[in-house]
Amino acid sequence: MSALLPVEAAQARLLALREPLSFEKISFSECVGRYTSDDILAQRDQPAAPLSAMDGYAIRFADLPGPWTITGESAAGTAPDRTVGAGEAMRIFTGAMLPDGADTVIVQEDVTADGAALVLSGDGPGARGNHIRARASDFAAGDCLLPAGTRLTPGAIAAAAMSGADQLAVGSRPRVAILTTGDELVQAGRALAPGQIPDSNSPMLAAMLASEPAIVSPPHHVRDDRAILAKALKELARRHDVIVTVGGASVGDHDHVRGALQDAGGNIDFWKIAMRPGKPLIAGTIGDAVLLGLPGNPSSAFVTATLFVLPLVRHLAGARDPLPSIHQAPLATAVDGGGGRRDYLRARLENGRLTPFVGQDSGMTHPLATANALLIRETGAPPCNAGTMADYIVIA
Ligand code: AMP
Ligand code: MG
Repeated sequence: MSALLPVEAAQARLLALREPLSFEKISFSECVGRYTSDDILAQRDQPAAPLSAMDGYAIRFADLPGPWTITGESAAGTAPDRTVGAGEAMRIFTGAMLPDGADTVIVQEDVTADGAALVLSGDGPGARGNHIRARASDFAAGDCLLPAGTRLTPGAIAAAAMSGADQLAVGSRPRVAILTTGDELVQAGRALAPGQIPDSNSPMLAAMLASEPAIVSPPHHVRDDRAILAKALKELARRHDVIVTVGGASVGDHDHVRGALQDAGGNIDFWKIAMRPGKPLIAGTIGDAVLLGLPGNPSSAFVTATLFVLPLVRHLAGARDPLPSIHQAPLATAVDGGGGRRDYLRARLENGRLTPFVGQDSGMTHPLATANALLIRETGAPPCNAGTMADYIVIA
């Protein structure tokens, strides 16, 4: 039997199967979750002129400690109609342009106004320039706000909007098909005959993909029949960039994904990974589509989707760093030594400490309901005491 492929090697091979899709230009307001195709450069200075950061009075710092004569007002949205001379103060509000002549803002809590007369009644500003947002202090025209290949968060969309963007170039979304196999499966919510179980994997995968830049087709289901499966794969490959099959990836008499992929004219790139759960994962191509054959056990499907399906989708959508980030936290409990494959233990991160669940059977779904981390235990790792630092991936 060929050696099991390490996870990192398998991920690198998978991402090398296809180049990212091309890009499209869309309104920045529709870009959340998408990946930037170009660096996003600011088209303007922000602020474009010095602005007040507080409600108060614009003055000359040299005139402190006052008193002053109030000569006018500067409110947000219009340029001031006069300058501030010696001994003068201009009423000013947050976001309003600083009038020429003024160099400092006194907050209104520090002064007392009586008609046009203004006197200092508090500490006043400690330094010239206090409470002023300098021109381009947020960003300057030409600054790179986000490098290409970055995921657009709501905060990134705020920066793009402020920068003067109208449309942004983002990676196109891969079209993803989910195909379940297994004679025992019934659509969740339907009545079950003896021996049948609800299909939990396709709703889980659809949910995992819901916040990704992907166009996910309604799930397909086929019986454990190699010819029917081959026909379905051929058909799906015409209209999708990614086909995710679930179940039938292993060596049982009813596991037909590899055979059907070959019958349909596809190629297997790799099969069997040095991981637990998820060893039987299949990767290949059929036409222009990439196929990932996940094992059917719910935890196996979840872990392989986290480590392979989501990175593939992100890569095709233009992500620069499509792989899940690995974090570290101390163990809350002792953990046994590792076995012959790397483990991804379903775990809970709480108060900064990791607790792996007692039940790690890959057929279980209940642990998935509350797991928020996958605790990584390397092949042959020694047993660890509570407090030892451990690697994990965030999954919720
Ligand atoms: P398989 O990978 O087809 O050998 O299936 C392994 C285990 O996962 C079996 O117990 C299947 O009943 C179960 N299984 C396969 N597909 C699904 C699915 N879509 N939802 C829930 N369980 C599944
Ligand atoms: Mg099966």
